[in-house]
Amino acid sequence: MKSVIFAERDEVPALGQGTWYMGDDPSRKADEIAALRRGVELGLKLIDTAEMYGSGKSERVVGEAIAPIRDEVFLVSKVLPYNATYEGTLSACEASLSRLGTDRLDLYLYHWPGPHPLEEAIAAFEELQQQGKIRHWGVSNFDPNDMAELYSTAGGDRVATNQVLYNLTRRGIEWDLLPQAQEDDLPIMAYSPIEQARLIAKPELKKLAASLDLTAAQLALSWVIQRTGIIAIPKAGSVAHVEENAHTLDITLSAEILAELDRLFPPPTRATSLEMI
Ligand code: NAP
Repeated sequence: MKSVIFAERDEVPALGQGTWYMGDDPSRKADEIAALRRGVELGLKLIDTAEMYGSGKSERVVGEAIAPIRDEVFLVSKVLPYNATYEGTLSACEASLSRLGTDRLDLYLYHWPGPHPLEEAIAAFEELQQQGKIRHWGVSNFDPNDMAELYSTAGGDRVATNQVLYNLTRRGIEWDLLPQAQEDDLPIMAYSPIEQARLIAKPELKKLAASLDLTAAQLALSWVIQRTGIIAIPKAGSVAHVEENAHTLDITLSAEILAELDRLFPPPTRATSLEMI
């Protein structure tokens, strides 16, 4: 099974689960909980959430889903940049832990570059690690310049991941961020790996997937995790979608298929600004 390794010691299957918009519609909650639990059963043990999602509603759904299976889950949440002062990070983490009904996060991310000095968030992350409230910390939406600034900040080299937008239609990171991360042995978490479902509606992708007896989602996801050091975190709100996506962990794409995907969705030919959703 494809996997990634965080902080040189925690190995996690290369497909996890996103949760943005979970909890927004109460009538979907039972399905969302069932989907998350089924995903963990199938090996999708990393669950990604954030204090931002539904202003805490997603964390509450995740908390309910993982209550009976906490030890099987690699749990990720994020602090909003506006909250990322030293004290603000400590209290944001406390609030996330309470909504998630757990005493620890496996990974805590700085959601995107913000107004406060990185030193403050790093100091808070280190304090939270000492207290056993987080195991690792990382960043999200950091472009190569942000990463350079992070690495030049005391303690910044202990970053465990950078979570960024990456899918067949958003390949900009292949130019600079991704090769640098691979050189640094830094796992990349690919968010919106099926472009919030817009990608899998594309006829050219559907046609190629059908010729391989795959769905468009399976082809798009297996392309993301084909490279070493990348974990994709699709959000699936139903057991059917999560089961379909989980199959991706067993797929290896041939050189011919990769070349065809390059033709349909060309790689970057120059540096571009890091895109965000
Ligand atoms: P995504 O995972 O690319 O797409 C989610 C959408 O795809 C949902 O509408 C889902 O519908 C649908 N879907 C999933 N599997 C499917 C399947 N097999 N067939 C058909 N439709 C399928 O988009 P995302 O939610 O934006 O990104 C994933 C996660 O990344 C987020 O949930 C969040 O945890 C994280 N994220 C992080 C950032 C950041 O700034 N760090 C930004 C964006 C996202 P159903 O719900 O009906 O299954």
